[in-house]
Amino acid sequence: MPTTDSESLAKRSREVCARPLNRIERVQDLLQNRVFMSIRLWCALALLLLAQAVSAEDIPDSVLKAGDASITIQYSTKVSDEFRKLVEGWVRDAADAVITVYRKYPVERVTIEVRVGTGGRVGGGMTFDGRLIKVRVGSETTREAFRSDWVMTHEMFHLGFPDTDRTANWIGEGLSTYMEPLARARAGQLSAEEVWGSMIDGFPKGLPAAGDQGLDNTPTWGRTYWGGALFWLLADVEIRRQTNGRKSLDDALRAIEAEGGIGSSHWPETKIFRRADAAIGKPILEKLDERLGAHPEKTDLAALWQQLGVSQKERAVLFNDSAPWAGIRRALTHGQRVILQHGDTIVPPPWHSSFSRSSSVSFRPTFASVERSTRAAVRSRSKSGPRLRTRW
Ligand SMILES: [Zn+2]
Repeated sequence: MPTTDSESLAKRSREVCARPLNRIERVQDLLQNRVFMSIRLWCALALLLLAQAVSAEDIPDSVLKAGDASITIQYSTKVSDEFRKLVEGWVRDAADAVITVYRKYPVERVTIEVRVGTGGRVGGGMTFDGRLIKVRVGSETTREAFRSDWVMTHEMFHLGFPDTDRTANWIGEGLSTYMEPLARARAGQLSAEEVWGSMIDGFPKGLPAAGDQGLDNTPTWGRTYWGGALFWLLADVEIRRQTNGRKSLDDALRAIEAEGGIGSSHWPETKIFRRADAAIGKPILEKLDERLGAHPEKTDLAALWQQLGVSQKERAVLFNDSAPWAGIRRALTHGQRVILQHGDTIVPPPWHSSFSRSSSVSFRPTFASVERSTRAAVRSRSKSGPRLRTRW
């Protein structure tokens, strides 16, 4: 029976396939396959690069000015004008918050790469070498979700602070974690109740657990972020206490930044604390590092909150303005909103008057024992009752 062309072809291929290749044919076959694969890979890569180049040209950057500093926002994909405005507002808010501490934007220029994905929230962020922030954002993120985000402000604080040794990672992460809500409150973006609610909720996560060997030797998530943040809160309170409110952690951070200690630099922790103490005029940071860096010292948070006059009942945050350190608590979140003008320079607010006023308002240094001040706080609360109440 005659065979069709296709049957004949199939038979021939089976015969060829069935015959074992000799060594030379095997080498030739291998080379042909490899060359073919390489060509295909290079073509695919070239097409990908071409597509990226074409699409990148189609996506304009957003460029914001913060005084003399320039903030460039790059988008991974085309975005609507509405979404672009939301991202720009979000970045401006974060810059405003950081400026309340540094009184200027801490670096001359930074690029923010926004990787736009699905969903309605801000994802993780990372800062590189004090000049680049990468962050993931869902394309459906709303204005409210941007307003409640902490990631961008956290990352921007990394820009203005030196990189440290890996064992001292808690210093930079703790600082960003601590300053972020305070700066947002000073810029009018968070209420004091929201700040203290998040602190009361978060700081227990930073306390040493069994087997802890101090902040330098316990690189867990809780100790790095919240343990580091607690270090800075204790430092800030102590600076304000010992200087009768004349100085704060802000002075130390500005001194470090002024000496080139920004995200593109690498400073050992001893240099950071020495420079900070020089700006304060007292060895507060170095002494605190001696205690908490190598030892699992457990802070009595309940006593600290009582001294500062803040407590939480269910989810309501209560303030006691008669507490010994109530003035410090108010000064920590006090600030003045600074508007980052698009394409223009900032008109600096009257920092000196606002800051000196804020840090000395009804502030009284106290060396009272925790027990004594606790009794005082309880007494004063029972007399005046909670001053403010909110939900966060
Ligand atoms: Zn961080």
